[in-house]
Amino acid sequence: MSLLGRGDVVTQQSGSHSRTITGYLAHLLEYPRWLMECDVDFTQCPYHGRYDNFVAECDTCIYGKACKWLSSYTTSAIKKAPLTDLVDALESAVDYVAGRQQAEHQANCVCDSCEWLRTSRQFLRSFPE
Ligand SMILES: [Zn+2]
Repeated sequence: MSLLGRGDVVTQQSGSHSRTITGYLAHLLEYPRWLMECDVDFTQCPYHGRYDNFVAECDTCIYGKACKWLSSYTTSAIKKAPLTDLVDALESAVDYVAGRQQAEHQANCVCDSCEWLRTSRQFLRSFPE
């Protein structure tokens, strides 16, 4: 049995450094991805961390929210995703990051989470629906 040919194609960026809105969104999505990857523990997961909408356990799993996000918005999916999907990804990431915040953060807190939340919420507010 060969593990090759699973369809994982590594795409090379062709050297364009223009800062597009999708590029900026992809950049904003890096922090919640990192955070969720730290949060989840798939060692006991019978599905190896692949979220499945049709599996009831995924719905009730304590890592379900992060797992669903990570499964939906992989780095390669984000490269191809339309802008509206990226905005959806950012909105749900904001919910996730805000939801895992400890209550004692001040309004002017400068921790990574608070700074990311401020930047992302500002972006979402300025984004024309
Ligand atoms: Zn904070």
